[in-house]
Amino acid sequence: MSDLLIKGARIVDAGREMAGDVLIAGGIIEEVSEEIPPPKGIPLLPAGGKFLLPAFVDLHAHFRDPGFPQKEDLLSGSRAAAHGGFTVVSLMPNTDPPCDSPEVARYILDKARRIGLVEVHLVGAITRGLRGEELVDMEALAPYVWAFSDDGHGVEDHRLMWEAAKRARELGKTIYPHPEFRGLPSRELGEELMVARDLWICRRTGARFHMAHISSPGAAELVALAKEKRLPVTCEATPHHLCLSREEADHPVNPPISTREAVDALVKGLVEGIIDAVATDHAPHTDADVAAGVPGISGIETAFPLLYTRLVKTGTIGLRTLSRLLSLGPARIMGLRKRGLVREGFVGDLVLVTEEELEVTGDFFFSKGKNTPLLGWRLRGRVWATIREGEVIYLDGKVKGRDFDDHRQVIRGG
Ligand SMILES: [Zn+2]
Repeated sequence: MSDLLIKGARIVDAGREMAGDVLIAGGIIEEVSEEIPPPKGIPLLPAGGKFLLPAFVDLHAHFRDPGFPQKEDLLSGSRAAAHGGFTVVSLMPNTDPPCDSPEVARYILDKARRIGLVEVHLVGAITRGLRGEELVDMEALAPYVWAFSDDGHGVEDHRLMWEAAKRARELGKTIYPHPEFRGLPSRELGEELMVARDLWICRRTGARFHMAHISSPGAAELVALAKEKRLPVTCEATPHHLCLSREEADHPVNPPISTREAVDALVKGLVEGIIDAVATDHAPHTDADVAAGVPGISGIETAFPLLYTRLVKTGTIGLRTLSRLLSLGPARIMGLRKRGLVREGFVGDLVLVTEEELEVTGDFFFSKGKNTPLLGWRLRGRVWATIREGEVIYLDGKVKGRDFDDHRQVIRGG
């Protein structure tokens, strides 16, 4: 809960663009205007020539703790998030043990709170042990999670998904399907059938559904039809499914990277407003895992530069639209209030980005996972500073707690 004055930025959010200053007091945005005279004793961050956006919100990340600290842990994941411009992350339950009980949920939330770098929210498992056999005690888990998902596995049992949706509706929680049905000759058809089934369960139960990592244009089309019917459904796509094609980036990930033609169709869905949020599906793995072909992309740090380079610099979408997809859209899906815009009264979570070019190398990552098809790529759109509740948690290559303990070391005044 800090005070900060940001001077001379190009302010962009989902609704407007303007040049000006932003004053954060007690962690909340107090004023946004063309010129704010510096109040005494408040740290000042000069931001000339930089874009100031609301900080990003990631609906879909894997920080691997408990169970796989060699891949990532809550500390390295939090640092990677801060480096990527994210101040809010929602973690998937496929840890070991999985997040299918209040005990595991409390362990993660307590640890994340002690680290205190970014705000961590949880998605709980739908089925015990993510085995797809029996439902978790959703009532017991509900106070700790905003949604339920068996991410990594589609819930293929219709009866289980139906029961889960009915309970989620009663508990006021969201069902967050990983839409995959294995064993069909066409993977796209598996995604489409699961989305179709879940939309019908959504219609029958009235439960809120948010579809994970839509990669098939057919699945996006189904979501569009459901939205026309005003069903309570939203969906996300990942940076890699929106920006990379199989022809140029051959990297194992689930769902797989699509053909150029399918990517273009998915981007069309994005432009038309069918896709409500971009979520990273940050899935860090060790070098040994990569050598063994384990699918996943460590993506939370490259998300903004990749989207900026491939979608904004090419003129496909504007920066305002990208801001909606990375901040306001996901915040709304999670039910977070007063987040995702640079407006008075909103939480002082902001990110400053520059046009600068960067090269993706192993050293670029704060994440333990360097598994990405982007190694050696040059991208534009560097995250320069990440601010959480008025406090600078990442600045120009340095992250709070690791490289600096007190932001006054690097910022004028205060
Ligand atoms: Zn998934």
